Amino acid sequence: MALIVQKFGGTSVGSIERIEQVAEKVKKFRENGDDIVVVVSAMSGETNRLIGLAKQISEQPVPRELDVMVSTGEQVTIALLAMALIKRGVPAVSYTGNQVRILTDSSFTKARILQIDDQKLRADLKAGRVVVVAGFQGVDEHGNITTLGRGGSDTTGVALAAALKADECQIYTDVDGVYTTDPRVVPKAQRLDKITFEEMLEMASLGSKVLQIRSVEFAGKYNVPLRVLHSFQEGPGTLITIDEEESMEQPIISGIAFNRDEAKLTIRGVPDNPGVAFKILGPISAANIEVDMIVQNIAHDNTTDFTFTVHRNDHLSAMRVLENTAREIGAREVIGDTDIAKVSIVGVGMRSHAGVASRMFEALAKEGINIQMISTSEIKVSVVIEEKYLELAVRALHTAFELDAPARQGE
Ligand code: ASP
Ligand code: MG
Repeated sequence: MALIVQKFGGTSVGSIERIEQVAEKVKKFRENGDDIVVVVSAMSGETNRLIGLAKQISEQPVPRELDVMVSTGEQVTIALLAMALIKRGVPAVSYTGNQVRILTDSSFTKARILQIDDQKLRADLKAGRVVVVAGFQGVDEHGNITTLGRGGSDTTGVALAAALKADECQIYTDVDGVYTTDPRVVPKAQRLDKITFEEMLEMASLGSKVLQIRSVEFAGKYNVPLRVLHSFQEGPGTLITIDEEESMEQPIISGIAFNRDEAKLTIRGVPDNPGVAFKILGPISAANIEVDMIVQNIAHDNTTDFTFTVHRNDHLSAMRVLENTAREIGAREVIGDTDIAKVSIVGVGMRSHAGVASRMFEALAKEGINIQMISTSEIKVSVVIEEKYLELAVRALHTAFELDAPARQGE
């Protein structure tokens, strides 16, 4: 008998019919003898609808009140699911975050979980009840309702699994697992059976939207085995764990991530003295702009060119700051470019294999794609390229690293 935390996202509980289907599914697990805690999101579209109401009152609604309101979305689904279970003869009880006592800090709209009281949940499980908990919400030490940030129900699921030392945290969603890359870009993308927390974190922060990043961090920290599965299709899904199997079959690269969210800035002809990087990036960080990739080149005339990327939303403000800096330090010019994309190969297998980066560069060269910037970490190589080549690059890399699904008969 296992203790499983199952989280169902908004589309999985998006209608009464779907809630009934979820109840059927939970019932089957109960009949197998497993103890089940279910975490649900609001019905799909509901959180947006609620935020829309608040915005009709004020462009920037008071965060405390916003949390009081948006937390109602999940409160509706927990009650409906508990009713659907009870109707099927499955004893069940629903709780809001406050009722469980999911204690958070007081950062409304982006609160962090501090502690979970597991007593009530354990007593219910012992009495044979399925416990249905509202995702995305908690309560602070003063009794204020808080929420955990968009997509926060994933984090509730993982945090409950950690608190209860569950055997697995299953995230049910509208895809059947984590893929080697976005199947809309590469039709031959494959579902991964397994991926490590570290790789998943890279994939998630590089644009794969299957899981909220914080939930993956949390699962890694507390070593909660996490599985992504399709809500209504049978299948093993993708297991996210700590092990790095040293099997020969294991591909070197687990996945290819990409995003179009960055912009590039270059400052040219900067007098090359100690402290230059600080002079350039200091004001950028003082303006609260996050920098991602950085490249510096020395020219023969004792000047340097300095290039970095920021989020596209910050491009204009970063340009303004950089133009000021250029005047102050006597640089030649400042150039901005938003037509870029970042493509990354991710895999823990890189640690034990040499030449992974050059294989990446070779694949891009064969397609005539120019690399503008490069950065590497232990388990990732990222390049910046011209945006129009993004899809071609991802497909070429997917093939080069042997990630393409085998062709089915007749294809
Ligand atoms: N309902 C919340 C949202 O839409 C939380 C979640 O779905 O995970 O962001
Ligand atoms: Mg979600």
